[in-house]
Amino acid sequence: MAAPKKENESNQGRRLAILGAGPGGYPAAFIGASLGLDVTLIDPRPEPGGVCLYEGCIPSKTLLHVARFLEESRSAEAWGIHVGKPRIDIDKLRERSGKVVAKLTGGLAALCSQRHVRYVRGRGRFADNHTVVVTDPDGEGKQERIEFDHAIVATGSRASSLPGFDADRAAVWDSTDALRLDDVPQTLLVVGGGYIGLELATIYHALGSRVTVVEMTESLLPGVDPDLVEPLRNRLQADGGVGFDAILLRTRVTAMEPYQHGVLVTLQDADGTTARRKFNRVLVAVGRRPCTDGLGLENTGVIVNESGFIEVDHEQRTAERHIFAVGDVAGEPMLAHKASYEGRVAAEAAAGRPAASDAAAVPAVVFTDPEVAWAGLTETEARRRGIDVHVVRFPWAASGRAATLGRNDGLTKLIVENRTERILGLGITGTGAGELIAEGVLAIETGTRARDLMLTIHPHPTLSETVMETADVFFGQSAHFMPRSGGGE
Ligand code: NAD
Repeated sequence: MAAPKKENESNQGRRLAILGAGPGGYPAAFIGASLGLDVTLIDPRPEPGGVCLYEGCIPSKTLLHVARFLEESRSAEAWGIHVGKPRIDIDKLRERSGKVVAKLTGGLAALCSQRHVRYVRGRGRFADNHTVVVTDPDGEGKQERIEFDHAIVATGSRASSLPGFDADRAAVWDSTDALRLDDVPQTLLVVGGGYIGLELATIYHALGSRVTVVEMTESLLPGVDPDLVEPLRNRLQADGGVGFDAILLRTRVTAMEPYQHGVLVTLQDADGTTARRKFNRVLVAVGRRPCTDGLGLENTGVIVNESGFIEVDHEQRTAERHIFAVGDVAGEPMLAHKASYEGRVAAEAAAGRPAASDAAAVPAVVFTDPEVAWAGLTETEARRRGIDVHVVRFPWAASGRAATLGRNDGLTKLIVENRTERILGLGITGTGAGELIAEGVLAIETGTRARDLMLTIHPHPTLSETVMETADVFFGQSAHFMPRSGGGE
């Protein structure tokens, strides 16, 4: 619904200052401007985009696309296509990634001027609860005082490090270092089997590194349903060039020392057994923490909790009601699309419109090969909370489209509430799962029942049919798959 003209007029002259121009801040700026607010968007980077565009989602997905191409060209041997050993021009790859980023950040800068959003390059700091002082991007030299009626904190997060390790900075990377693509090490240790660790491991493995992953918990992607992780783990462990050198679970790094052109790492497994191994590079991907320090929040009434997140209510308002917080600074999950959603809510609330963060499902996608995606309630969470659900699965071994792609290693599962037959969760592992999951988000948000999904015609032959066929399994009517138990459990 378009905002009534009168409402927009009543916002004229009301000033909204936004700290951070990532996927939380820039949509908030654009929506705020469309609702008649006078918006200033503040960020140290040359153009809007934040970590997501400059050194996160976009460069990583650009390189994951390359990884996909390399892996597919390797698999093509089995189909009778001999591509030969690829010659990788790392400078050109880096250049392309930079061009993709520049195109998108440049586009956002142009949209700022078209929408009359003032972009101020620098670091913002609250001087009091109605003033932000912006200094130059390095934090030196006073530049400008900006008074505001409303403010939104959208300053994102930064990589956590492993504390207390004395190792050569050039040899121990965080995700930003890894995405710079300075070189392709012969051997790479990835510490952390979460989103970032596995995506970057996939990129470097495809480019030719021998990759080892250590994860301190008992599973890759802890928290994700184990049956969704299994196809990924099977592929990553597979022999024949597809797999990583090793995936070490329940293992920690206990020491790192500089060693010739790399790092000597001490690894300790769950039994306490230690081993020393040499790697050319170590990538640390053990989580991220919110960027709330240095913002002058102590000069406002904004409350930061023990985990470092800013406390917000359903309108994304902080304890200082005219100051909002969105995205990674406002709590888990730290995902760009959740930040954008919250940015919209905050901008609308600041403009005096009714708004609430009440999403029934925040989708999550890990862009590995196969991709792992889920939305809404997971099976693990349903069991933990004692919710009466029926879980049904459709293995991609029964999908015609998956067979044509040579990728039967997928799984689609639905979590259906028994009493109402409503879809509460969808999980997909398989090629393209990240694109397929959106249907589940819509189903959950709109209270769709399993029968609706079953009776919705899906195009053939596509992987989207697996979502419909999982609903068929719920009613014991799948054409292509007969579960041994006759249904789910
Ligand atoms: P993560 O929380 O996903 O994974 C970190 C992993 O490191 C966990 O599995 C944890 O058990 C493990 N770990 C922690 N300390 C360890 C140690 N000392 N030794 C071994 N393992 C250890 O965090 P991440 O991968 O760094 O990603 C950070 C955030 O960025 C995530 O919350 C995610 O939301 C976001 N992200 C999303 C995407 C995406 O949407 N595709 C991609 C990248 C990052």
